[in-house]
Amino acid sequence: MREDVTLQCSECKEQNYRTSRERSAGKKLQLKKYCPRCRKHTVHRESK
Ligand SMILES: [Zn+2]
Repeated sequence: MREDVTLQCSECKEQNYRTSRERSAGKKLQLKKYCPRCRKHTVHRESK
């Protein structure tokens, strides 16, 4: 079972990426990705 998640910039709160992951993973995703609004790499967290 896969779950769609949105990855949100932790600095400006822009939702920049959509991805899917295994539902069984109990912890929240947290990835460093490029944010076009901040124009740099920031920590992105999953949001719903
Ligand atoms: Zn940002």
